[in-house]
Amino acid sequence: MSVIDYQKIFHHIVAGFKDDDDCGKVATYIPELANVDPKKLGIHLTTVENNHFCFGDSNEKFSIQSISKVLSLTLALKVVGEEVWDRVGVEPSGSAFNSLVQLEYEKGIPRNPMINAGAIVICDFLLSCLDNPKYELLEFIRKISGIASIDYSVKVAESEVQTGFRNYSLANLMKGFGNIDNDIEAVMDLYFHLCSIEMSCKELAQAFLFLAADGINPIINETVISPGRTKRVNAIMQMCGFYDEAGEFAFRVGLPGKSGVGGGIVAVHPGKYCIAVWSPKLNKNGNSYRGMRVLEELTTKTQLSIF
Ligand code: GLN
Repeated sequence: MSVIDYQKIFHHIVAGFKDDDDCGKVATYIPELANVDPKKLGIHLTTVENNHFCFGDSNEKFSIQSISKVLSLTLALKVVGEEVWDRVGVEPSGSAFNSLVQLEYEKGIPRNPMINAGAIVICDFLLSCLDNPKYELLEFIRKISGIASIDYSVKVAESEVQTGFRNYSLANLMKGFGNIDNDIEAVMDLYFHLCSIEMSCKELAQAFLFLAADGINPIINETVISPGRTKRVNAIMQMCGFYDEAGEFAFRVGLPGKSGVGGGIVAVHPGKYCIAVWSPKLNKNGNSYRGMRVLEELTTKTQLSIF
């Protein structure tokens, strides 16, 4: 049983926010994401013992965006295996999530599966290995979370196609280097759908709980991946989950985590809990401003992190 009253801690953290803390900007480069209320704030923490602590808009679905890159990697590790690492690295990029520069220097091999280029290669793998990748990816996420209502947002996926010039450039550059096997349109269709998945903080905390419990979702007793692979996925989130701000997140929060431009962040305390925070205004690196603040305060007030 957890002895920490996280609920109380969340109330303290939010009560301590000042007007200056309401900074950052909602992502508008994907037009559909601009329609969100910037004031939303949701927090949900689920412990490995299935205790729940929440705050605010924790039951409202939002666009999880790049948070889903952890789930596509997990599925690829299951269906492709270690071969994944022949075509995508495990090093932090130190550059923006949609940067093209590094990819040119490094001959079309993305630094890691948490940046856009890396997730596009993962989508290419899934397309090669699965009969109906869009459907099977969604079914996988529903199965490991135990939540049948999780779905893509067709509107968001279409909106991403309209303005996905940089993502198409990444895919074409990698195809030029021989690191994309399938048709570009098919790969991008899967990638944009992956980004468009909508979930609430509560659903995210449940879906990612396997990363806090050696690869098993303890709520539904579902084995997702092995303990060894769980360790690797957590390591990649720790080093690469926040792009050019991964060091800052480790320094301030001290937990493996993953952000998305919808304003969500998932963080994992192995052996203890999974937490999801949602606040749509982003800092200049594309990470939720208040989301980072909530998590920093949480590990500071509880004096518990992986370090
Ligand atoms: N769909 C977004 C993109 O491809 C995902 C980026 C993110 O969440 N960091 O640009």
